[in-house]
Amino acid sequence: TLSDRLGSVFDRLRGRGALNEADVRAAMREVRVALLEADVALPVARDFVDQVTEKAVGAEVLRSVTPGQMVVKYVHDALVETLGAETAELNLGVTPPAVIMMVGLQGSGKTTTTAKLAKRLTEKDRKKVLMASLDVARPAAQEQLAVLGRQANVDTLPIVPGQQPVDIARRAIQSARLQAYDVVMLDTAGRLHVDDQLMAEMKAVAETSTPAETLLVVDALTGQDAVNVAKGFAGQVDLTGVVLTRLDGDARGGAALSMRAVTGKPIKFAGVGEGIDALEAFHPQRVAGRILGMGDVVSLVERAAETIKVEEAEALAAKMAKGKFDLDDLRAQLQQMQRMGGLGALANMMPGLKGMKGAMDKAADSKALVHMEAMLSSMTAKERAKPEVINAKRKIRIAKGSGTTVQEINKLLKMHMEMANAMKRLKKMGGLGKLAAMFN
Ligand code: GDP
Ligand code: MG
Repeated sequence: TLSDRLGSVFDRLRGRGALNEADVRAAMREVRVALLEADVALPVARDFVDQVTEKAVGAEVLRSVTPGQMVVKYVHDALVETLGAETAELNLGVTPPAVIMMVGLQGSGKTTTTAKLAKRLTEKDRKKVLMASLDVARPAAQEQLAVLGRQANVDTLPIVPGQQPVDIARRAIQSARLQAYDVVMLDTAGRLHVDDQLMAEMKAVAETSTPAETLLVVDALTGQDAVNVAKGFAGQVDLTGVVLTRLDGDARGGAALSMRAVTGKPIKFAGVGEGIDALEAFHPQRVAGRILGMGDVVSLVERAAETIKVEEAEALAAKMAKGKFDLDDLRAQLQQMQRMGGLGALANMMPGLKGMKGAMDKAADSKALVHMEAMLSSMTAKERAKPEVINAKRKIRIAKGSGTTVQEINKLLKMHMEMANAMKRLKKMGGLGKLAAMFN
């Protein structure tokens, strides 16, 4: 897996400070091999690696994160950025009927996907859907869709022998208008290779039907070829999205990255089996892990982030050890609270602090946090460093500035005082060493 590969490279990366170019390049060579193993198309893998390299070289290595982890973070972020962070929806907000045109090579799964998607739209989105097969080249292709339609409980346009694709499309839209269908799905003919005749036919159909969605159906198992297919189609019609089929097979997901990179369009659905229900919304993040053959990337990054938190906590503990805890520290602490379980969790573990737990948990409540943050922001730096200077007049000013009340400010100051006292008690107990140890 990639983590194994990177492990040996990263063992050599012991330096601190900024990531140097030689180290990044060495690591990225391994990333490139892993991408190719995941079936990402070569030019796409190359571009991806160049992109990440450019971003990572010279980047500062965060405290307590190894350079290796840092590189992994860049790879992970770039993957998510390319694949898209979120699941993409169909855009059917047009005057009905909304036309969905399915395009792709023969055998990619167009007809099956047309029926799967029609069923999903019918059941999940409560749409009235009409399907029509424009595949007049292959005998029985239209009948195949009719059979699937009966299986899915979705209407198909009656077959009129001898009609050409454009005429069938026109007839489908006309019927849909008359019978108040919400969606018309056009299953176009495919060929074994991208060719002029196929493209001309597809363009003609697109012109007559002005589709709301034009979905390219691609077999995820055609890893390296996927790019040529995508380029061929993307250059001819305005694609709005991609459906990757056969993700149930041993597809390693690389096609997803390739498709996304070449078309720039989101992958909207994934076919995960032959059955009529085997269609899922596409989740980019899951695939990001799959592509690199490692869910570890994510956990590695998370562990790195975890390490950063530990360092922050240690820094605070060091400050507290000196008996110092001003309002700036309180502010930093409030921001950390939700992330690390905060002082409330700590209070619960430390003898002598149990009584504070309620107040501290309350402080960690997000709405209260926003208020406190506002109050702290309305204070001057001097007031935060020396809370004792905050007199009645200052309180009124702070309350006005933060949209809160003097009462709330008093509460905040009281809580701070209690916490500062608790810190002192903790120090006397010699508990800070223990406290810091708990984070490790
Ligand atoms: P078309 O030529 O593009 O219309 O492709 P078809 O829809 O006829 O599909 C070709 C074959 O692929 C059929 O046997 C389908 O059952 C199968 N197929 C389609 N999608 C999937 C999928 O997501 N997973 C699997 N395992 N098979 C699929
Ligand atoms: Mg077909």
